[in-house]
Amino acid sequence: MLKIFDTYSKKKKIFINNDNLIKIYVCGITPYSYCHIGHIRTFLIFDIIIRYLKYLNYKIIYVRNITDIDDKIIKKSIDKKINVIKLTKYFIKKNNIIFNKFNITKPNYEPKVTDNIKYIIDNIKILIKNKNAFIDKNGDVIFNTSSYNYYGKLSNRKTNNNFVLWKLNNNNKNELLWKSPWGYGRPGWHIECSVISNKILGDQIDIHGGGYDLLFPHHENEIAQSNCLYKNFNIKYWIHIGTVNVKNNKISKSLNNYIGINKLLNKFNINTIRYYLTKKKYEKPINFNISKIEKSNIELDKINIFFSNKYLNKTEINLKKKTIIKKKYIFNKFIDYMNDDFNIPKIYDLLFNTIKNIKNRNIENKYLYNILKEVKLIMKILGFK
Ligand SMILES: [Zn+2]
Repeated sequence: MLKIFDTYSKKKKIFINNDNLIKIYVCGITPYSYCHIGHIRTFLIFDIIIRYLKYLNYKIIYVRNITDIDDKIIKKSIDKKINVIKLTKYFIKKNNIIFNKFNITKPNYEPKVTDNIKYIIDNIKILIKNKNAFIDKNGDVIFNTSSYNYYGKLSNRKTNNNFVLWKLNNNNKNELLWKSPWGYGRPGWHIECSVISNKILGDQIDIHGGGYDLLFPHHENEIAQSNCLYKNFNIKYWIHIGTVNVKNNKISKSLNNYIGINKLLNKFNINTIRYYLTKKKYEKPINFNISKIEKSNIELDKINIFFSNKYLNKTEINLKKKTIIKKKYIFNKFIDYMNDDFNIPKIYDLLFNTIKNIKNRNIENKYLYNILKEVKLIMKILGFK
């Protein structure tokens, strides 16, 4: 029985799904630069969750949005004198190449904000009509967080945190702007995820996730908006992935501790990076350290050596031959760990202990063959190539 820690109720809850279809929404990237290792960690964890749910025979609808209009994009476009659309197109393409290299499951939908402006405007109109939003003295449309009684439940913050739904810009016609009932402008960041997730997945979403850094204010604001907009709005499980920190600061370009993902890809194997970014329980932060990736490389090699059949009599092994995997030696334990809130670190321990035990004992080839097949299937579900 699968259990997931839901960051909204702060409880490990039994995963209930009656129609065999799982709807997943993960907050995606803002394409003004290359993604960083924190994004890769988040998307790798959801990649493993999705691979596992597919293994359990669920049908998945996976949506990951693209925030292709934003302050950072506009700033970069001005700094680099590149048209906003050209800039975002370039980084969407480049980041998709990186995700493919990492063997990260492609979402079923990758909606862009700029393709959904009409829906966003329609929803802002409703929020104004219902008095959840107002127009301030600058002409911006602002969400009034005190109009939603449960504001702060996700993050345990009871602050007054009114935020922008529509940013007015009647002066600078050089920017990418859209016409609205409130004048030319563009949507705020938070409203896009409420509107886009609802448009594609509806009121009831099984899993909504992202990095822990999005919990406040982004997801708190999303919950407030969506509850005010959609009568039956419900996210069954909120999943947040721990950030990747450098000397305890979250990685971001503004902190100047940005680690180039392409540099890492040149230096390390994708399997090594996957292992490094998933070997700590997913909700915990990672303190980024190159020497730890090097150590991960050595650890993962133990599994690779195992695969090279060093301990097996090769004449009896034909892995290409299609045979039924009995899944009785270690696979059941793998299922138990995955069902316990995707406890991937325990699975790595299981694999290393299994290999260690095999090395130390004289075991029949037939048994080893079965173990090898189980390990191979486990590694496949964990997304290793
Ligand atoms: Zn979002």
